[in-house]
Amino acid sequence: MTKIIQPLDIYKKLPRSNCGRCPAGSCMAFAVQFLRRMVPLSECREIDEHSKLAIEEMLSDPGDWKERRFKELFDEISAGGFSSVARDTGAVVDCDLLKIVYMGREIVLGRTGFKDALDIMDRLLILMYIKQAGSGGLSGKWAAFRDFKDGLIRSESFHGACEIPLAKMFERSREGTIKRLTALGAEKVKGYATEHSYVIYALPKLPLLVLLWPGDEEFGADCKILLDSTATVFLDVEALLYLGMALVRNIKGD
Ligand code: SF4
Repeated sequence: MTKIIQPLDIYKKLPRSNCGRCPAGSCMAFAVQFLRRMVPLSECREIDEHSKLAIEEMLSDPGDWKERRFKELFDEISAGGFSSVARDTGAVVDCDLLKIVYMGREIVLGRTGFKDALDIMDRLLILMYIKQAGSGGLSGKWAAFRDFKDGLIRSESFHGACEIPLAKMFERSREGTIKRLTALGAEKVKGYATEHSYVIYALPKLPLLVLLWPGDEEFGADCKILLDSTATVFLDVEALLYLGMALVRNIKGD
């Protein structure tokens, strides 16, 4: 069976100096982004040839784990019928089609797969959410990623792969970022520490509070992403990290 390469496997081959000279900003965030194909290996400024080769070798037969996982999940979900799994997730079953709103867009899932072209990670996240079949209401209380069980060890990755890229995007183009967020269904909200506060429902029961601060002469722009305190009822922490990364990718329009 082909081993699934995890960010930690890549991290162990990186210099681990956290020099901050790559777009990811830290070695762990780089490992996550590299596996997500968001940064090429050449962006690591300190890696030596030996480690580069070791990583390339490691990836030479990765198998397509995402496609495999997608097929497994899809088979499990469709075998039991959509009605049994969609209950209480916010998805709707209509004439043997499952409809769910993801990043502001209605996505339709039929017996043979998704009706629209979607990135594999987006498809996986939707299926993971449906498979987890979390139920219950939202708490209305926002929580930081690190506050969830097992969130602390991945919080640096969440910051490097989700909050830093969004802050940089906002710094480059304030209007463009807000326009993209709004196009994904984000709504401006009041009462938070910055006037640039938006709530976006990545999935029906997974709202994200995106707080953006413009930079000034002294400090660069900043971003904080909070989740409803019930978030792990609907997706596990690892998947929430991928959800944050998917948000960044969808805002970028990749
Ligand atoms: S450039 Fe390389 S060593 Fe420096 S933080 Fe990024 S991944 Fe780590």
